[in-house]
Amino acid sequence: MKLLEWQGKHLLRQVDIPTAQGQVVEKPEDVNALILDGGKMVIKAQVPVGGRGKAGGIKIASDPQQVKDFAMGMLGSQLKGFPVESVLIEEALNISEEMYLSILLQPSGEYLLLFTASGGMEIEEVAEKTPEKIVKFSFSPKKAAAEYVFIDVLRKTGLQGSKLKAVGEIAWKLYKAVVKFDLLLAEINPLAVLADGSAVAADAKVEVDDNAIFRQPIVKHWVKPPTDELEKRAKEIGVTFVDLDGDFGIVASGAGLAMATMDLIRDMNYYPGNFLETGGGITDKLIAGSVGLVCSKEKVKGLIVNLYGGVNSLTAAAKGVVDGVAALPRKVPVVVKAQGNQQEECWRILEEVGIPVIKTHRTEDAVRLLVESLGGNAV
Ligand code: GDP
Ligand code: MN
Repeated sequence: MKLLEWQGKHLLRQVDIPTAQGQVVEKPEDVNALILDGGKMVIKAQVPVGGRGKAGGIKIASDPQQVKDFAMGMLGSQLKGFPVESVLIEEALNISEEMYLSILLQPSGEYLLLFTASGGMEIEEVAEKTPEKIVKFSFSPKKAAAEYVFIDVLRKTGLQGSKLKAVGEIAWKLYKAVVKFDLLLAEINPLAVLADGSAVAADAKVEVDDNAIFRQPIVKHWVKPPTDELEKRAKEIGVTFVDLDGDFGIVASGAGLAMATMDLIRDMNYYPGNFLETGGGITDKLIAGSVGLVCSKEKVKGLIVNLYGGVNSLTAAAKGVVDGVAALPRKVPVVVKAQGNQQEECWRILEEVGIPVIKTHRTEDAVRLLVESLGGNAV
């Protein structure tokens, strides 16, 4: 889950990383109720994406009226494709240098720290134009990295004295935050160095591992229930679902199988109407619910159920398809492809009620049959 800047900063403060004083507003009434003492303020649109500065989502106000005007202007607007539902108002920092610091969890399980003293711009741009200015440091979570380790790494960039101490300390604390809050990514850009040599996180881009949210009480609090009706239903059924715009519905017993089905549908010049993946917990009820969910969209003209029975019981899946199809309020052609654990029993149950079954491992056979049953020409 990608956090908003104010949420990211809230986590950073738990490990004592310095940030500016700020307040979050969500409604015009909040803006009117703001108590401001007249100093320079920065108004920041809270959307889970970078590059807000260039898109007009970061503004500096010099008096309280301007703060309110900017905040009102941002609330409810769209920024980079996201609705601005909250705005962060902070004391503007007197930044003398902008640096970049991030720690991310790599697929290998090691952490990677990236740092450059030329922050402020996108790290991708620095990487392309002046890669020599980026310090990379890969380290194992087994070695609880100590503060001096980070200071030593950053020393290589030429940082010295109080600045080196300030930035090194933040790097070490950022690592603590990554471990403590199960983060996949923690990025501070800019890491602002002020005139007195102290360093402050002026931005925070933080991503939490979805699988760990259950044990992160602060983050759990921020999870929003899905607003989309279909997504809500998918969540209740217990499947991973993404709504799409095409005409062929998909129920697949794994993410890879679902993606392959989508590709093969495109190969035949049709479009997938959704992505749905059941995972390993198939029951007849779950499959029946999935069939109903996918076919609840009028636009979906036909359904492919693509099953692999590993841990999953194909008998339960077949019963679920039969129940799901029987409960549909309209007629939707369905083709099932099923291979694996209990396949013969599965085929028998489906054929008994006249649902066509593909008994090969070729998903394209299922797509072709569905195209033909809709009166189209399979390519
Ligand atoms: P992003 O573009 O979405 O990553 O937004 P940031 O929060 O990183 O802000 C973009 C730029 O706005 C920064 O690089 C700074 O130059 C500027 N900025 C952000 N916060 C402050 C602040 O408190 N004071 C000043 N002077 N500039 C700021
Ligand atoms: Mn930034």
